[in-house]
Amino acid sequence: MLEKKVETFNMNRVIDEFEEMTRNADQVQKQTLKEILHKNQSAIYLQNFGINGNTTDPEAFKALVPLVTDLDLEPYIKRMVDGDTSPILTALPVPAISLSSGTSQGRPKFIPFTDELMENTLQLFRTAFAFRNRDFPIDDNGRALQFIFSSKQYISKGGVPVGTATTNVYRNPNFKAGMKSIQSLCCSPDEVIFSPDVHQALYCHLLSGILFRDQVQYVFASFAHGLVHAFRTFEQLWEEIVTDIEDGVLSSRITVPSVRTAMAKLLSGPNPELAETIRTKCMSLSNWYGLIPALFPNSKYVYGIMTGSMEPYVKKLRHYAGELPLVSHDYGSSEGWIAANVRPRLSPEEATFAVVPNLGYFEFLPLSETGETEERPPVGLTEVKIGQEYEVVITNYAGLYRYRLGDVVKIVGFYNKTPQLKFICRRNLILSINIDKNTERDLQMSVESAAKRLAEEKIEVIDFSSHVDVKTEPGHYVIYWEISGETEDDVLQDCCNCLDKGFIDAGYMSSRKCKTIGALELRVVERGTFRKVQEHFLGIGSSAGQFKMPRCVKPSNVKVLQILCDNVVSRFFSTAFG
Ligand code: AMP
Repeated sequence: MLEKKVETFNMNRVIDEFEEMTRNADQVQKQTLKEILHKNQSAIYLQNFGINGNTTDPEAFKALVPLVTDLDLEPYIKRMVDGDTSPILTALPVPAISLSSGTSQGRPKFIPFTDELMENTLQLFRTAFAFRNRDFPIDDNGRALQFIFSSKQYISKGGVPVGTATTNVYRNPNFKAGMKSIQSLCCSPDEVIFSPDVHQALYCHLLSGILFRDQVQYVFASFAHGLVHAFRTFEQLWEEIVTDIEDGVLSSRITVPSVRTAMAKLLSGPNPELAETIRTKCMSLSNWYGLIPALFPNSKYVYGIMTGSMEPYVKKLRHYAGELPLVSHDYGSSEGWIAANVRPRLSPEEATFAVVPNLGYFEFLPLSETGETEERPPVGLTEVKIGQEYEVVITNYAGLYRYRLGDVVKIVGFYNKTPQLKFICRRNLILSINIDKNTERDLQMSVESAAKRLAEEKIEVIDFSSHVDVKTEPGHYVIYWEISGETEDDVLQDCCNCLDKGFIDAGYMSSRKCKTIGALELRVVERGTFRKVQEHFLGIGSSAGQFKMPRCVKPSNVKVLQILCDNVVSRFFSTAFG
């Protein structure tokens, strides 16, 4: 992408533009589709379906182009990765390919990344910032402590750079100017963001944040998991960080030369006063409650995705954030941004997102109450019904046409004429043996209810995952828990029963009653096990910033299953169904 002058940010203008666009959501959608089809009129994929430069009407488009999933597009994208530069899916240049984190679907997906997606990203950031800043204004010349990590970008054998979507964004020449224009300049030097070692990068993000502590206006990671992970790490390493500040010498754990040089410049000499302040703050906290405002006294909020699969981390994050508001980051994916949080005061539990009508052409596939696709065709952006759940279907500038995203959302209202939605879950079932159907959300709710029993003992679930064990006859669900302390076996037995009872899907309950599904098994794993799982994913190219813990481990994922199984310290079988 050519570096261009990023426009000066004007909060009122951005909000006015959003108002105008959402009041005319229907026309904006039609115009967006027209532009996408016009810009991509020479795309081979579209021509194969009989779309030519004259097709502008949404009905004609929908009649000719089928709904697809990532699997359908895989062969086309593979040709692009292999260096075929003909206009396969898009007529626009594809300077990079994004690799989705792969932890939500269980395997990585390749997605074309174009200049238009980058512009969409900056537009979304501006819009969300305008609404945030109206409610929580930040000071001029402030900074943001951003736990962001640019994972490795590799060049495919066809010569195309491949990296996670966030990596493609951070490496883009317009990223830094875009962040600066919305007063969100990172504390850490670029060398930290681009460090090949994510552990060293995290340490340096924490250290940089403290060095700029008075300027830090908000604290951010893409996902709540990243924020919790950062401050858990701080709990372990804070004394070392304080020593670095006191002596003005960087810890020997930082070995990447570029990172050492950049951080040494930032440290610039001993600062015993700051070291003492941080030491006193840390020692005065009770169980680290309110750590974030203690470290960053001028921060106004904590920001990151806290909805959907990130909900389990909200409790811990709230603990670290003390009285600071938690603001939910917007809704998007490697395939493109979809909706902005224009009501930043809502808590993560209540957060909704307003679809931004010029980011793509959106359709919504109605789902029945059981989560099945209904026979009804998808409806347009302004035709959705409040209270109904849908799967999101996206057509973007970067070669995805009528692409099923695999996410379930619920329409909770309208912002002007554009839908306000709540993220519900990933579409695919994760736990199913026979007629039972449980999604990630069902697992989350079962864990939440069982964790209440544990909370009575002042213990928390640090992280969890699951797998379906069909090696036993009958098959059964296995839930892995890492917990924050030791407790009696009878407490864990209660939790296990609670987990089993927590799956309220009729298929599961009836199968349990007639014993066509065996007793649910709770396996408690050693402290640090989920960190090892994360390490494993980082080792195979996942980005630290985009990481999502796999909530169900497929049998094919031998390595992760092995990490979990090797670290089991105790096992319980449910007696809830006799
Ligand atoms: P990735 O595949 O790594 O690009 O991750 C994108 C996925 O993360 C989306 O398809 C959603 O499933 C999830 N996601 C993104 N934004 C949110 C959000 N605000 N709330 C909940 N889940 C989200």
